Amino acid sequence: MIDTHAHLNEIEDVHRAILKAKDVGIKGIVAVGMDLLSNQETLDLARKFPAMVHPAIGYHPWSISRETMEENLRFIDKNLTKCIALGEVGIDYKTRVKKPLQWEIFSQLLSIALHHKRPVIVHSRFSHQRSHRMVKDSGIKKAVFHWYSGPLEILVKIIDDGFYVSATPALAYSPPHQAAMKSAPLERILVETDCPVEYQGKISQPADLVITLKELSRVKTIPLEDVRSITSNNAKLFFGI
Ligand SMILES: [Zn+2]
Repeated sequence: MIDTHAHLNEIEDVHRAILKAKDVGIKGIVAVGMDLLSNQETLDLARKFPAMVHPAIGYHPWSISRETMEENLRFIDKNLTKCIALGEVGIDYKTRVKKPLQWEIFSQLLSIALHHKRPVIVHSRFSHQRSHRMVKDSGIKKAVFHWYSGPLEILVKIIDDGFYVSATPALAYSPPHQAAMKSAPLERILVETDCPVEYQGKISQPADLVITLKELSRVKTIPLEDVRSITSNNAKLFFGI
């Protein structure tokens, strides 16, 4: 099992969280970054736990600003070859950052990923249509639309174009997320926790991947064992782990 999206640098006791993850059978964690500091911390964690932590670096739409863009893009361009993916990046129409600036930066990030031949972990909150179109137009072949809870007609396009979506523990209670995961083929679903996001009042950690798997099994009415082996295989294929 691989947690394909964790903000590991934000976890309070990483040692303990990694031990707990191993205890429940997790073999790898894709640690994602959002800005200069978290990217650096993510790379440090990957050096510290090389067998377990696979780094991805990014520039989250929440972190974007004119003042910090140059430095962030330069860091990513310089360090992406040390990482298994670009992320977390994307577009978010609920933040205060102006749309044109988000589009401009996402477009540059996609070019960097294409240049270094890395898959992309996409945040597409309330921007599903635009995010999908930009990824498609960029020429990127491997992208995952993380925690997908958007319209089903865009999900169909995402799947048709060969992209992936990912499931989180929110499957336990979020109707749009459940509808999306019910509709997507299991072969295109990655599983994750997005930890330390709080789900129903509880701060998550990588070990909570078992919740995602259990809920995915329930929503799709596919045996847990099959869900586990197929999504693990998906993660290996997607990230080349
Ligand atoms: Zn995230």
